[in-house]
Amino acid sequence: MFLNHFEYFAPKTPGEALELIGRLGNKAKVLAGGTDLLIMMKEKLLSPEYLININEIKELKGISYEPGNGAVIGAGTKISEIEFSDIIRGKYYALHQAAGELGSAQVRHMATIGGNSCHASPAAETPPPLVALGATVVISNTAGDRELPLEEFILGNRITALAEGEILTKFILPEPAPNSASRYAYIGHRDAMEIDAVNMAVNIMLEDDGLTVKALKLVMGSVSPRPLVSVEVPSLLTGREFNSELVEKAAKAASGEAKPISDIRASAEYRREVVAVLTRRLLKVAFSAVSGKGV
Ligand SMILES: Cc1cc2nc3c(=O)[nH]c(=O)nc-3n(C[C@H](O)[C@H](O)[C@H](O)COP(=O)(O)OP(=O)(O)OC[C@H]3O[C@@H](n4cnc5c(N)ncnc54)[C@H](O)[C@@H]3O)c2cc1C
Repeated sequence: MFLNHFEYFAPKTPGEALELIGRLGNKAKVLAGGTDLLIMMKEKLLSPEYLININEIKELKGISYEPGNGAVIGAGTKISEIEFSDIIRGKYYALHQAAGELGSAQVRHMATIGGNSCHASPAAETPPPLVALGATVVISNTAGDRELPLEEFILGNRITALAEGEILTKFILPEPAPNSASRYAYIGHRDAMEIDAVNMAVNIMLEDDGLTVKALKLVMGSVSPRPLVSVEVPSLLTGREFNSELVEKAAKAASGEAKPISDIRASAEYRREVVAVLTRRLLKVAFSAVSGKGV
């Protein structure tokens, strides 16, 4: 369980970090909270020659919000800060819920939102709500920045769109649409610190009548190598009055779209069932949060 020898850097500015990562390339790893990276190093799955600790760079931390424009979350922001942020709870509820479910309080005080997406575990807690909320990421190198929707950043199990010499610097969340609500839910084997068997998030927008679905995004985690955005559920519900019959159809459709594997945490068959259960639950809860009505 010993770590390999590495050279350690703790830059104080984004410019210094980008210069280092640009110069050291793939021999270097960014160290954020270390809650994934250090485990992989202890298990000898990774042996970087250089570690670039980004925790002392204040520009990479924190949550800002501008009414009408949305929120910006620094990639180095701790999950606990997201969990307790009034902005996130008030405007981006699904992310607030997911942040509160990640690991334990100790883990949430160390882990960062950037690390959660860059590690790109299929079971990661925050990517499904971030994708449902329409998040984009900003990726930076010494030449400048580029912006990508998060669903195009996470490409597969532990695979991202980060190129050599780049770091993830921030997440941009659009202003929530009027008459909209987002929700997150997960199911694991026990109500304790564990890796999710399935996690899901929904973001629903209703017309002014408070009944008709104007737009919807449903995202499934842990049932494919990367967050899976439902195509069928929005096409079933958009433009229709929300009712329990449609919810049943949506649950069946989402379950059919899921591409789960069987592993130590759950069988593929169980995961498909869970997708149906969580789809029903999330749609009803999110609808009722906007409309004040039940179905
Ligand atoms: C006990 C325990 C319980 C856990 N429970 C959960 C859970 O319930 N749900 C869950 O989703 N996760 C869980 N995790 C995993 C982990 O805590 C999260 O994935 C966390 O968000 C990782 O963030 P970090 O800051 O610690 O990343 P690190 O470990 O520092 O980094 C992870 C990877 O991302 C890269 N990286 C980090 N930040 C950047 C950046 N800004 N730019 C480029 N690359 C970057 C690193 O180089 C590394 O490859 C758990 C971990 C532990 C140890």
